[in-house]
Formats: sequence, C-alpha cells, structure tokens
Amino acid sequence: MDEILTRNFCIIAHVDHGKTTLSDRLLEHTNTVEQRVLTDQHLDAMDLEKERGITIKSHPVTMHYRAKDGRTYKLNLMDTPGHVDFSYEVSRSLAACEGAVLLIDAAQGVEAQTVANAHLATGQNLKVIPVINKIDLPSANLDLCLQQLEDILFIPHDEAILASGKSGIGIQDILEAVVTRIPPPRWRDHKGTRALVFDSLYDSYRGVITYARVFSGALRAGDGMTLMSTGQKAEIKEVGIFTPKMVKIDMLGEGDVGYVVSNIKDTSDIKIGDTITLTRQPATEMLPGYKEVRPMVFCGLYPLESNDYEKLKAALGRLRLNDAAFQYQSESSIALGFGFRCGFLGLLHMEIIQERIRREHDVEIISTYPSVVYHVKAHGLPEIDVDNPVLLPDPGTIEYIAEPTIRASILIPNTSMGDILSLIMEKRGVIDHTDTLDANRVMLTAILPLNEILVDFNDRLKSVTHGYGSMDYELGEYKADDLVKMDILINGEPVDAFSSIVHRSKAEGKGRELCEKLAEIIPPQMFRVAIQAAIGGKIIARENVREMRKDVTAKCYGGDITRKRKLLEKQKEGKKKMKQIGKVSIPPDAFIQVLKN
Ligand code: GDP
Repeated sequence: MDEILTRNFCIIAHVDHGKTTLSDRLLEHTNTVEQRVLTDQHLDAMDLEKERGITIKSHPVTMHYRAKDGRTYKLNLMDTPGHVDFSYEVSRSLAACEGAVLLIDAAQGVEAQTVANAHLATGQNLKVIPVINKIDLPSANLDLCLQQLEDILFIPHDEAILASGKSGIGIQDILEAVVTRIPPPRWRDHKGTRALVFDSLYDSYRGVITYARVFSGALRAGDGMTLMSTGQKAEIKEVGIFTPKMVKIDMLGEGDVGYVVSNIKDTSDIKIGDTITLTRQPATEMLPGYKEVRPMVFCGLYPLESNDYEKLKAALGRLRLNDAAFQYQSESSIALGFGFRCGFLGLLHMEIIQERIRREHDVEIISTYPSVVYHVKAHGLPEIDVDNPVLLPDPGTIEYIAEPTIRASILIPNTSMGDILSLIMEKRGVIDHTDTLDANRVMLTAILPLNEILVDFNDRLKSVTHGYGSMDYELGEYKADDLVKMDILINGEPVDAFSSIVHRSKAEGKGRELCEKLAEIIPPQMFRVAIQAAIGGKIIARENVREMRKDVTAKCYGGDITRKRKLLEKQKEGKKKMKQIGKVSIPPDAFIQVLKN
C-alpha cells in the first residue's frame, strides 16, 4: 500500500491546561487560519462552553504542514469534549485518531483528568506525545512535571516536549512529533469501506451533518451508504473537510477526517460510534467500540407559565436536533402540570441544556429533583428501569432496588486526606485503592453511588481541598441497596416534584434538610403551612412556614392612594412569579435552591 502522509491526532488535557490556546497556535503555524482571524479561541464555539471553559462538541480541523523531511502532511486535529459526562464521545473521538498530544500545565502538574485521559488514549492504542505546557509561567516546575510523567503515567521523561501555547515555544517541535512519532492511518487493510461516526451536527439548511473518519475505502457524493448498527440506508449528497470552515471535496479517502451530508433527516439516526459502509459493497464487520448511549440522569422540566408549554416543546425539539444524547418525552406532574421527562448524560449536560432553554429559547422553566436510573424488581414482575421516583411500584411489592455506581479517580493534597475520607464515607463510597503521586499528593480510587455525587460532590471536593482536588470517573456496576422513596408533603399534600429515592440510613437527615430549606425558601403565607418528609405513610421530619403578618400597605396610612395601588400592584407582580401548589405559593427556583447546599 502507498504511504499516506496523513496523521490523525487529538489534544487531551485537564481543563485549563491550555488545549484551546495550543490548538489555535497550531492552526496559525500551519497557516490554516490567518492570524488576524484568530482573535478568539477558534475551536470553542458555543458561548456557554466558553463561559464554563469546557468543550462539548468536537470540531475537527484539517491542516497542511510542511515537515522538516520536505514533505507536506495532512494533519487532522480532532477536538475531544472535556468533561466526564461525555466520556463515550471522548472515546469515539480518540478512536478516530492514531495519536494524542497530552498537555500538562507546567505550574499545575498532572491532574485527575490528565491521568484519566492518558488511560483512555493508551486504551485505544494511541501514541501519546507528552507536552509540558505553559513553561513561560514563573511558577512552572519542570522537574516535578517530568518526574510525574514517569511515576504516574509511566512515560519516559525524555519524550516530553516543553512548550508554551501563549508565547509560541515548542509549536514546531509538537508538529514534528506528530509527523514522526504518530503512525500513519490504521485499519486500512479491511475489505470494503468503513468510516467511523464520531459526531453530528444539525444544520437548518442541509439537515444532519455527520462527522466521520474513513479507515478503509472511500466515500463520495452519489454513493449509497449504510449505517451498520441499524442497517439504515441513505444517499450521500456531499462530502468535505473542515478548514475549519466546511469545504466540499470530491472524496473522503483512507485516513481522512471530514463531514458527510446525506438525506438522513433525523439526528437520532446518526449514532456516535457507528460505522458507515457502502451499500453496494458493504463491509463485513463494524469498527470496534460501538455502544448505544443511554442517558444516566433524568429530571422533569416544566414551563413556569403553563401557556409556555408549546414554546418549551419547540425548544426541546431544537436542542435535541443537535444533541442525540439528550432525550425527552412528555409527562405530567400533579404539582407542576404538563411538562417533559428529560434524560441527560450527566449533571453538567443537564445544567447546560437547562441554561440553553432559558437563554437561547427564552422559556422560564422549573426542574424537578434529578434522578439516576434504578433497576427495580417487584414480586412476579420482570426488572424495570425507573428514572422517576413517582413511577416506583408499591413499596410492599419491591424485591430490590439497584443503583448505578461509579469508579472515581480523585486526586487530592495529602493534607486533605481526612476530610476526603469522611466525605466519601458520607456519600456511601468505599476506597478501592490509594496511590501516592508525589511528596504532596495522593490519588484515591473509590467506588461511589452515582446518585450521591450528582448534586454537590465536586463542589465539596473543591472546598475541602481549597481548590486543589480534582476528580474524574467512569461508570461502574449496578448494586442493590436499601433504597426507599421519600415524599415531601406541603400542607399534607405530596408534591411529586420533590420526591426522591434515597438510602434508608440517610432518609431522615435528608428529609429534615429538605424541609428546613423549603421552609426558608417558601415566603410567609396567609396561613400556617406544614412541610413534612415521609417514607410510605410515616412522617420522618416536619417544619412550618412562617405566617404572613405584615400588610404591605399599612405604612401608607390610607392617604396616598396611588402609592397604595402601586404597592399592591408590585405585590401582585411578585405573586405572579410564584408557582401555585394547592394554596401555597412556591418560588420557581425553590426546586433548584433545595438542590444546592
Ligand atoms: P483549555 O481549557 O485547556 O482549553 O485551556 P485554555 O487554552 O482556554 O487556557 C486556559 C488559560 O490558560 C487561559 O487563561 C489561557 O490564556 C492560559 N494559557 C494557555 N496557554 C498558556 C501558556 O502557554 N502560558 C500561559 N502563561 N498561559 C496560558
């Protein structure tokens, strides 16, 4: 076979270690994007991603680089999502590469995500090029970083490239290493065409745009294609590459990374990790590693104003077009009316979608308590998946409830050991093993219930380690435990939106906490309101909401009528923003506030 001068690689790093800055620098050095266009970080497109400093969507870019050996190489830089919620997407982007540039911030050293990413990359048999980045920083500690490279990641320190994305040091060295150390495209010898789907995007003019990496064979406009996971067939309308703009080309050949536009209309038909083959000459086997992505976290989303229902529905539909991992279906709640049950990959994914509904679609929403997916078995019935506590079978009939667990890598300073151990214990976790990283830091591997880390684990980790702790996780097994449904009653009425599944040992504490918080958040009412937590019929905690005493118009002495009216109107407006549950007015963010510690 001819030698192909193509190299496919990605940059992996802990958040903030300089991936975006370095990517821009590589584009600039290869004249892919003119310098003056590069005012902003190019690969992170969405505002929200920028604000949070994370990348969610992968945007590949094709660059041309004239190497020291005199030949011009085609370099495809893949971007990987930077958050654990998206680890399957990361693994598919990595599978589309032969090598990875692993960034380590010279002042921070190795972090939890660095280790997790390095493992993912070696797990995909990628060649890892270690880069110590930000060496321009006065606080850079090169010796320590090189030592950690050997001790923690088992990479010889002499393989490391010293660089600074900011001042441009080492950029050429990185490009040379990509060309000389990363092998040319793999899996070319398969008979038949195989291309890996690693992402997709919805374009309102052109429909679904699939991002693909061709391993063997070729894709051209006019070809009939088959998606191997489902056997669905379609016609290819256009193929092209990203420069980073989309540019149409004649053919995507072996080793190429680009996009495919077909007559497929629905994003959910394009599954990440799927294999595209040609219909007339199909491949016999899919590319390895395909998995059906299932949402891990669910919550109900309801419009604050019930006449925004259609607007919310349209917003969810549009978000779903671009995000096959996000799911929703209609549901109704006694407390909140008509809304939607939504499924997300993780808590960050959930927050992002909620934020986009508010910002980009201008719909005020209420979210219910998030829930993981439980496996529940009741007498005489097959095991079912339950993602909404309201749907649990009658407690008397339940044989077991099993919950998902995670395997977490938690990196902390030695000095926080005691605090972290008690945090892990509080969250019902067990330590699997402990590794000493250097004189100051340890890496704990712990098994924890996913449910326990959903709401505040990361914040608590950051707070007890004064910001130095970091965590990454992968999903583990399901484990049965003593789990029960806890209801919250307001004025004697259960509010389904506040129901949750909790461990029995924690029910009372959590019930009390929820009641206290609600009692604080719910404004004084005209009459006394009881807030109670209950398991089955048994009340386990109780608080009262204060009674309203003050008449807002009292201080007007009945004199100035316009002022009085204004005040009353203001009060009415204030009321309008409340959600009416029975006779009780609840602020819309009550549900979010009780979730936060
Ligand atoms: P990402 O989260 O990995 O994409 O990181 P960014 O590229 O967004 O960089 C995070 C922060 O580090 C930003 O404030 C950058 O300006 C800064 N930064 C990135 N590269 C360098 C570098 O080489 N030297 C210095 N001093 N700062 C850098």
